[in-house]
Amino acid sequence: MFQKIKSVVLDMLFPAMCVGEHGFVAPEGRYICEQCSLYMGEAALMCPVCGQSSFTGKTHKNCSGRYVLDGLVNIWEYEGVVKKLLNAIKYNSVTHATQEVTHKAFGVMTEDTKRFELFLEFLLTRDPVISYVPMAKRHERKRGYNQARVFAEQLAGFVRTSNRFSKATSLLKKVKNTVSQTKLKKEERLLNVRDAFAPNDIVMPKHVVLVDDVWTTGATMKECCKTLKKAGVKEVWGFAIARTP
Ligand SMILES: [Zn+2]
Ligand SMILES: [Zn+2]
Repeated sequence: MFQKIKSVVLDMLFPAMCVGEHGFVAPEGRYICEQCSLYMGEAALMCPVCGQSSFTGKTHKNCSGRYVLDGLVNIWEYEGVVKKLLNAIKYNSVTHATQEVTHKAFGVMTEDTKRFELFLEFLLTRDPVISYVPMAKRHERKRGYNQARVFAEQLAGFVRTSNRFSKATSLLKKVKNTVSQTKLKKEERLLNVRDAFAPNDIVMPKHVVLVDDVWTTGATMKECCKTLKKAGVKEVWGFAIARTP
């Protein structure tokens, strides 16, 4: 009872502002108000290799190859309230919001089962290991967490896979210091992350969902996928919360 009163009082004194920064209060325990939810722009799916449209996100037949992603799912465009929210998660430690975001992402996918059919099928029938793009140890210590890992954990929680890794699993480690990708051009990004990852010393699964928060050029995720497949993984789908428009 006291806890309840305390939280009600705290909510009155310090209501959770919606990340939309317009001064609206988000519903209890959430970070996005109803209004902003309506403006989270969904992104069409695309082939992760050529970047052209692919209705289900599956890699085009002509684009597929030994070490490339087999498909990519992204939910929203990285702009507006989605960008604010992901930045708050990344830079201001609002890690609680990952649950709300992943919940909404699942909502989008289950409401459009035609578009997400192949990814959901992979997720629910192939028993994939949910993994994520690793961060340099030094950076992760400084930030305190890896937002890609937190999203992967949320996703794994939703799926509750029955495989030996029931939680998000670290399959890769970062072995090269890279500079932040944010200011680099597309070609520079590819060079920056080349050979930046190595497989962890575990038996690799056959199927993997590789999670990251934002897909920009995809250089990092592509490199991770290559490393996984060279280590024996057969099929990899990328899952990014948002992609740059
Ligand atoms: Zn709002
Ligand atoms: Zn393609």
